[in-house]
Amino acid sequence: MNTQVSGLIVVGELVCDGCSRVMRHPERYGYICEEGKHQLRLCENCCRARGYLKKRTSKREEVDTFLDFQD
Ligand SMILES: [Zn+2]
Repeated sequence: MNTQVSGLIVVGELVCDGCSRVMRHPERYGYICEEGKHQLRLCENCCRARGYLKKRTSKREEVDTFLDFQD
């Protein structure tokens, strides 16, 4: 299965395909492109709920990182 996940910044307004919440700039969202399926634009909560967003601990701070399925 070929799934591409991109972490993007909302420009203007965007409706989450998961929970139908309106996201506004400068919120982050995940653009999920799965082969053979519709593309999804998901807010951070929905990304996290579906496993597209994982916490990664760097040296001093904890940041959320979008998984990259491309490789
Ligand atoms: Zn959502």
